[in-house]
Amino acid sequence: MTHRVLVVEDEQDLARMLVRLLEGEGYAVDAVHDGQAGLHRALTSRYDVLVLDRGLPGIDGVDLLRRLRRTGVTAPALMLTAYDTVADRVEGLDSGAQDYLGKPFDVDELLARLRSLVRRTGADEDAELVDLGVRRLDVVARLVVGDGPDVALSEREAALLRTLAGRPTRVFTRDELRDRVFGDAETDAVVETYVSYLRRKLGPEAVRTVRGVGYRMGTV
Ligand code: CA
Repeated sequence: MTHRVLVVEDEQDLARMLVRLLEGEGYAVDAVHDGQAGLHRALTSRYDVLVLDRGLPGIDGVDLLRRLRRTGVTAPALMLTAYDTVADRVEGLDSGAQDYLGKPFDVDELLARLRSLVRRTGADEDAELVDLGVRRLDVVARLVVGDGPDVALSEREAALLRTLAGRPTRVFTRDELRDRVFGDAETDAVVETYVSYLRRKLGPEAVRTVRGVGYRMGTV
């Protein structure tokens, strides 16, 4: 399976070098040169990993990643920076980056870190297809397939749907779903947010609300 990488880097020579390097390693690469274009690409296509320069014209890398994370884009991100200070690193990681690399970087190190991020995405994907009733969830591609056009899900949407579909008759509390899918650093509100994303993409019946208790799998 080919992994898709989005490179957002305003230094054109470096962007070209990254595209050549990553394509040589078998990745499918899209490259854009400013934050606005990066935002548009990342919101309209599905990527397995993002490589973001921190200093970009318009929307900078940190701001770009914050916006993407708020929108539910969870592809792991490697941030590149010209100023490799601790404060910078902390800000980058706080914005939702999984990893951080100072320029100039060693290409082998970049490739190793990307492999690690891609592997992380693919962790615990033992089952390929999860039965949703009418349609199926392709866990690896994060697509809902069958009956009608395929629907692409973000990692977190897919993880939530997979958890619900794994025990389709069980009612999950918000706390349980938060702990299992999002981690306890998040508030319960994250569960409602992602339930609403799933309903928007898959229909209002996709997830049932069990009043006063939580949620269970609906009809997809
Ligand atoms: Ca730059």
